[in-house]
Amino acid sequence: MANLFRFAGRSRLEPRRIPREDHPVSRKLISPAALKVLYGLRDAGHEAYLVGGAVRDILAGIEPKDFDIATSAHPEEMRRVFRTARLIGRRFVIAHVRFGAEIIEVTTFRGAITDSHERDETGRILSDNQYGNLESDAFRRDFTANALYYDIRDYSVVDYTGGLEDVQDRVLRLIGDPELRYREDPVRMLRAVRIANKLRFELEPATAEPVARLAPLLREIPPARLFDEVIKILMCRDAVANFRGLRAYGLFAQLFPDTEATLVRYPAMTGFVERALDNTAQRIANDQPVTPAFLYAALLWPMVAERFVRLQAEQGLHPNAALSQAGDEAVARACLRVTLPKRFSMPMQEIWELQPRFDQLQGNKPKRLLAHPRFRAAYDFLVLRSETGDADPALARWWTAAQAGATLPESLDDAEDLAAESATAEGAPKKRRRRSGRRRGGAGTPADG
Ligand code: ATP
Ligand code: MG
Repeated sequence: MANLFRFAGRSRLEPRRIPREDHPVSRKLISPAALKVLYGLRDAGHEAYLVGGAVRDILAGIEPKDFDIATSAHPEEMRRVFRTARLIGRRFVIAHVRFGAEIIEVTTFRGAITDSHERDETGRILSDNQYGNLESDAFRRDFTANALYYDIRDYSVVDYTGGLEDVQDRVLRLIGDPELRYREDPVRMLRAVRIANKLRFELEPATAEPVARLAPLLREIPPARLFDEVIKILMCRDAVANFRGLRAYGLFAQLFPDTEATLVRYPAMTGFVERALDNTAQRIANDQPVTPAFLYAALLWPMVAERFVRLQAEQGLHPNAALSQAGDEAVARACLRVTLPKRFSMPMQEIWELQPRFDQLQGNKPKRLLAHPRFRAAYDFLVLRSETGDADPALARWWTAAQAGATLPESLDDAEDLAAESATAEGAPKKRRRRSGRRRGGAGTPADG
């Protein structure tokens, strides 16, 4: 409310303008493609501003990842300037202007929210196609830090909502009445957690307060939109902090209710999920490829693993049948909240279904598994499981050795010896390994006992 009060009773607001010499947003930090769009619009007589995450990130001292532009030009006018612009019309028409691999998102200033906007019974805005000016656009944005505009005409930064001060104080504050703004668009709750963690900002108390209470509003959001948000929030460098934040505010339970319920029953599984998220975060930090299939395999695994055991024990299902049924059920239920596109759910289920095959070390089976196109992802998954008590660490080491050597280890013990040898023989010529090791009767030695 304090926030609303700050603007109450003033019909026309004078923004604060910070001249170029008093802020760090420089053209050197803006991508050439974004600059081309800004100059192109300006030269055609339109207002054009860099806005949103890019301005915020530069002011907060981090490198921006994408560049959003707001303009007075209407979509058809944008197309006259950029003939190849693609108009994307979902909630609001957005133009995508492409330069090589880079896509710049350009939106026309939005009009003020009024009572004439169509809402559902929870307050969510349904139709939204009124154009406006810079001022109305600023107050339509979510957080004050996201409502700072870099003016290409004189390189000043324009601030209507106190965003600059908030960035300096490192607080993330919703513009306007928080409850109203979350009701308009509940996805802002997810954005609050994600952006605060990304910037290491605190959520301003009034911005944080309604979240736990309003978390159930996420059920009103189309599952496909939530998929996009889940990827942004859990497939990034701050994935673990985001996961903890989502859980603390009760948001995770809305996105993945079955996983949350399993984690409450088996808190030890939390370590597994966090480890998987951290694994993905580290791969991103190292510029290695990541896929939602692996992320989702981990997110849904707690309930799949629980159900897998149950279906065998209670219904006597064969392990393969139990796993595939547990997987199908998990996917069907999860998709009620957050869509998982087929192109990811199929490889995800393969990752699960390969897990029992890691136990089979006899005959030709390991060779066939090693040649499976999904072997590597499934093996990474096995390693994660073994690190968190969900699989035998000796088994994971067997498969590590199996990939390293020309011949397969004969047993789990043999794999341990190989691992020890390669650790001590660093730099020394490879020793010929023993034909047979001590045998302890692991899964790979059915003749034992
Ligand atoms: P990042 O790109 O780092 O994920 P961002 O804030 O730029 O963060 P985008 O999704 O690119 O996020 O959105 C660009 C801008 O559009 C935001 O900074 C904000 O001003 C506005 N915006 C995005 N989503 C919303 C929303 N749900 N409600 C209001 N404004 C929004
Ligand atoms: Mg952005």
